Amino acid sequence: MIQKIAGGLGSQPRPRAESRPAEPFCASLDQACLSSTVVAAPESDFVAKEQHLKSVLDTSNLSQAQANQVLSELRAIPSQIWKMLARTGLRIVSLPPGQDLSHTSAARQFSPADYEQRLKRAGDCLQSTVQRLDTENHQRWERMPDAEMQEGLWAMQQGPIIAEELIAGPAVRQLGFVPAVLSRPVRLEELEEAVGGEHNPEFLKEMKLLNRDLLEQQGDLFSSTHRLLLLPYPRCQGQPVRQDHLKYLKGQNDQMLRASMGTNYWQSALVVVHQEFLPDPAPEAGHHRVMLHEVGHAIDHLVDRIQDGGYGQNHRQLVQRLFQRDTVDAREGQDRFSSPRAKDNPREYFAEAVESYLTRDQADGQESKPNNNHDWLKAHNPELFAHVDEIFKRAYSDDLKLDPMPENPEYKAPPDLLARTRKPYLEL
Ligand SMILES: [Zn+2]
Repeated sequence: MIQKIAGGLGSQPRPRAESRPAEPFCASLDQACLSSTVVAAPESDFVAKEQHLKSVLDTSNLSQAQANQVLSELRAIPSQIWKMLARTGLRIVSLPPGQDLSHTSAARQFSPADYEQRLKRAGDCLQSTVQRLDTENHQRWERMPDAEMQEGLWAMQQGPIIAEELIAGPAVRQLGFVPAVLSRPVRLEELEEAVGGEHNPEFLKEMKLLNRDLLEQQGDLFSSTHRLLLLPYPRCQGQPVRQDHLKYLKGQNDQMLRASMGTNYWQSALVVVHQEFLPDPAPEAGHHRVMLHEVGHAIDHLVDRIQDGGYGQNHRQLVQRLFQRDTVDAREGQDRFSSPRAKDNPREYFAEAVESYLTRDQADGQESKPNNNHDWLKAHNPELFAHVDEIFKRAYSDDLKLDPMPENPEYKAPPDLLARTRKPYLEL
């Protein structure tokens, strides 16, 4: 993506060629476009690499210098790895200070491609639930002497009862639509406000798709035949995103990301790095390349999924075995860990190995992890080095099969991290 330049009011329109920043992708000068911190194998297919990189990396909120810095590091990763990462739908985003993930294109990773289908399925579910409850109640009251009073009571209380019924069933909960119980007719704006998020120009259309005959309109007031309406997803960065996922995106804020420098949200095929850690050297991090470490995690999860005669399983077992070996040996004085972070678990061990493989010791006193580099890893942990080398240099076939993502595709955010509302429906 090309960065947009904001034109001030009254500024003279300039020729198109002049009003755009320089093209950040310089495929023909691939080697010249590498950061001095990275180590990269010669690349024959750098045109393809730029294309894959372009589809994965969001540079829209970066300055030209920041974009060039990031690209000059990510180019160290071979084209065929980028091709596979692009296939997994990976998105790489950086978070500016003072923002949270809802301000970035990370929202795209939380927006379901089948949203239209979801509206229909939730609409079907609402319709059948209401019909079933109506029928059951009428049958129960038919022969009662106070049938009319029972009917009246049902009419009064049905909103929360239908809401609970919908939430108890798997369909609406999995689909992520939130019911709203109405005690009075409301304006469309009130309903949209209750959903939260940005203005949605499709709001009324989606309300109709979800609620069908339940939705009643009188003038500019909306009500429900059953005191309950299902609400569409809120919009975030123009994308429909579940309400709980939006809450999650807002919770992934500047402070949190700054503390961890970056995060790989593997369930969402999303890598995020705080913008403070993009420069080389960066404050606190020095030459530690947070971006390469986080993409290292994404590569780890990608390789896990490669079928190709059990390649992914062998990778997992090998990393596990080497990590255990090194943990035992470190206690006995032989330390093959390239950094303290690598000791945490096999995932960190591998991500650090990727960063090590791809970076060189600048020897200028700005190394926050002095051993985390290509030469050190090669000399001190040749088995781990050889494994990363094999992953990067292997000739992958074009029809390579990947295992499906192991998590429930309905649910892209880590369930334990999702903030939950006390009452699972809204009241208006
Ligand atoms: Zn990590």
